[in-house]
Amino acid sequence: METLANYINGEFIPPKSGNYMDVYEPATGQVYAKTPDSNSADIDDAVQSATAAFETWSNISRNERSKILHEIANGIESRLDEFAEYESRDTGKPLELAKSVDIPRAVTNFRFFADHALEFETESILDGNGSINKVVRKPLGVVGCISPWNLPLYLFSWKIAPALASGNCVVGKPSELTPYTAFKLGEICQEAGLPKGVLNIVHGSGQNTGSAITSHPEIKAISFTGGTKTGETISRTAAPLFKKLSLELGGKNPNIIFADCDFDTMLTSTIKSSFSNQGEICLCGSRILVEDAIYEKFRDAFVEKTNALIVGDPNDDTSKLGALISKEHLEKVLAYVALAKEEGGTVLAGGKKTSINDRCENGYFMEPTIIDGLSADCRTNQEEIFGPVVTLIPFSTEAEAVAIANSTDYGLAATIWSGNPDKANRVADQIDAGIVWINCWMVRDLRTPFGGMKSSGVGREGGDEALRFFTEPKNICMREV
Ligand code: NAD
Repeated sequence: METLANYINGEFIPPKSGNYMDVYEPATGQVYAKTPDSNSADIDDAVQSATAAFETWSNISRNERSKILHEIANGIESRLDEFAEYESRDTGKPLELAKSVDIPRAVTNFRFFADHALEFETESILDGNGSINKVVRKPLGVVGCISPWNLPLYLFSWKIAPALASGNCVVGKPSELTPYTAFKLGEICQEAGLPKGVLNIVHGSGQNTGSAITSHPEIKAISFTGGTKTGETISRTAAPLFKKLSLELGGKNPNIIFADCDFDTMLTSTIKSSFSNQGEICLCGSRILVEDAIYEKFRDAFVEKTNALIVGDPNDDTSKLGALISKEHLEKVLAYVALAKEEGGTVLAGGKKTSINDRCENGYFMEPTIIDGLSADCRTNQEEIFGPVVTLIPFSTEAEAVAIANSTDYGLAATIWSGNPDKANRVADQIDAGIVWINCWMVRDLRTPFGGMKSSGVGREGGDEALRFFTEPKNICMREV
C-alpha cells in the first residue's frame, strides 16, 4: 500500500504527527493508499517555507514565472494518461472523462494563467485636473488554496495557477478523499524548476489541515471551493483575521426548457448536464423546469435516454457513469431519493444503488435517477444533492419559470433552452445566478468571471477576477509639478 507525503519546501515529507487517513478507490470500495492527516505543525512549516520563497518569487519577472507555469503544464500533459488514471481511481469517474476533461483542463489552467498574467495591466486614471492615478497591484504573500473532491486537479490548479502567476506563494490542500493527483503535482513542480517553497501541498482532513490553513495568521487569503456549510465555517474563522476570501460553494441549478427550443440538442445536452461525473459537478442542472406544452414529450424521451446510460467500471470505455465518491455520499444521495418519495415524488428512472460485477462489486454505484411530482419548495427541490439525481418541474409561464428558478438559497448556474433569443435573454437577466448558459452548458472561456450568488459563494474566479483576488491594489496619485 502506497503512503503519500506532504510536499513542503520542494521535498516530500511525512506529517509530523505520523497520522494518516485511508484513501479509498470508490469503484472497488477498497483502501489503496494512506494520506497524511497534517496538523498545524505541518502548516507552520509550509507557511515558513512559502514566506521564505516569497521575496524571490514575487520579484522575478512575470515572464520567468510564466515560463515555469508553462513547464508545469507541459509536465502534466506529458503524463496525461497516467494522471487520468490516478484521477479516475480516486474519484470513481469514468477514465475517459478524466482523460478528456479533468487532466486537459488542469493543463489549460496553468497555460491560461501563465499567459493571462502577462496581459494583466496596471490601470491609469487621469482626473483631468492635473493628477494621475496609477493603480498598481502587488501579490498578497502566502495564500491558502483548498479544493474539493469532484474535479480534483482541475479545481486545485484553477486556484494555484492564478495565485502563482501573480507572484504569491501557496499552501494548498486537496480533498482528503482525492489526494493523489495533487501529491503527484509535487513531482511535476520539481521537474519544472519551480523554486522550493513557492508551492506547498499539505494533505489532510478539513478539520485538522483545512482549519490550520484558514486560521493561520500569516496566510493572507483563502481561495476555497467546497460545500456551503464549510464555506460558512471558513468565513467565521478567516473574517476576524481580515483575510481575503473567495468562496465557491454549492448549487441547485435550474435548467429552464421552453417549448420552442431545439429539442434534440437540448435533450442531448440535458443528459450531460444531469449525469456527467455522476452528477457530481457543481454546475450540473439538478432541477429541470419544462414548459407544459412539451412536458410529456420531454419526460418520456429523457427517461428513455437516461435508462440507456451505462453505469459501470470507470475503466470501461462504455461506462457513462462511474462510482460516487464514497459510501457516505452514496448513502446521502439515496436518502434524498427516499425523502423525495416521502415528499410525494414519483421515481421515473433509477433511484437505487447498483452492483457492478467482478472488481467493482463493492463499489459505490447508483442508477441515474429522475423524479417528478414534487413541489418546487420541498426539501428535495431546495437542498443540494450533488449526485445523479434530477427532478422535473412543469411550468406554464416565463414568470413562473423565473420564480421557481430563483426560489432556492443557491445561485450558481442556470441553463435556458429556447429558440427565441429575446425571451432567453430576458429570462437570463432575471435569474439570480453567477453563470447563465443559453442553448449550451459548460461552455467556458477562462477569461470570464466564474462563481455564484447567494449561498453559492462570494467573489469570482477566472481571468482578471482571479488575478485581482490574488493581488492587493495600491492607488498612487501624483499631481503634475
Ligand atoms: P467540503 O466542503 O466538504 O470540502 C471541500 C474542501 O474543504 C476539502 O478539501 C475539505 O477537506 C476542506 N474542509 C472541510 N472542512 C474544512 C474546514 N473546517 N476548514 C477548512 N477546510 C475544510 O466539500 P466537498 O464535499 O469536498 O465538495 C462538494 C461540494 O463542493 C459541493 O457542495 C459542491 O457544490 C461544491 N463545489 C462547488 C464548486 C463551485 O465552483 N462553486 C465546484 C465544485 C464543488
